[in-house]
Amino acid sequence: MLIKPRRESNPRKLVLSPTKIATYLACPLMYKYMYITKIGRFYYKPKAGHSFGASMHRALQTFHEHGAGETQTVEQLADHLRETWVAIGYESVAEEQESLTEGVKMLEEYYSAPPVPGTVTIFTERQLRQDMGEFVLLGRIDRLDQHTDGTLEIIDYKSGREDVTEDEVRHDLAMSIYQLLTKSQYPNDRVTASILCLRTGVKATVEMTAEELAAVENDVRAVAGEILAISEDTEFEPTEKDICPICDFEKLCIKIRAQNS
Ligand code: SF4
Repeated sequence: MLIKPRRESNPRKLVLSPTKIATYLACPLMYKYMYITKIGRFYYKPKAGHSFGASMHRALQTFHEHGAGETQTVEQLADHLRETWVAIGYESVAEEQESLTEGVKMLEEYYSAPPVPGTVTIFTERQLRQDMGEFVLLGRIDRLDQHTDGTLEIIDYKSGREDVTEDEVRHDLAMSIYQLLTKSQYPNDRVTASILCLRTGVKATVEMTAEELAAVENDVRAVAGEILAISEDTEFEPTEKDICPICDFEKLCIKIRAQNS
């Protein structure tokens, strides 16, 4: 039997998301550990905040996919949370139960907020991708609504925040990338972006200008250029940063610093 020669596969393009870019900007060494050497899986510690956020997102996704308030009751929304609840990362069963109760209360508030008349949800929890040449840019959008005047509104749920300002939305890396991706997918539509704090219902909305979006694209391309240059051989010093105490690699970096000193 003849064995067919294996085709050389094209090297895969770098895929960048807001999370990956934010990780690199926060600490290039953390980026290397997570996405180049991929040792992150050995150090990852489940976090209650991540589980809570994922559970809330899934509950809202199911709620909107099933017709939201037009066909769903508030009890059904709460049931979606119980059905999709992610239990890992909590210190105790009591803490987990407290979070679940809090989540149900937040969803009840969400349900009671009157929807903007005529607004249609285009999709929930969808990944948008854009080929940028040397890399692919992607972002996962929580919800995209369309208003009666045709304006598209990107809605990003925050399950841990109580407040947000327009300035914070305008300078938020992920929100800027979501606008860039949405605008490239819907070039003829007006696009706005909102952060919605699920704990309080506070929402802030911005619309970036074409110049601002061009600046975001330039910044993303510049960071992508730096990231593309990283390999397993690239060395980064584990210098102390504010985020070290909450980083999964802290023990490893302390050990390396001790060895280097
Ligand atoms: S512990 Fe600090 S230096 Fe080490 S990877 Fe994390 S953030 Fe970077």
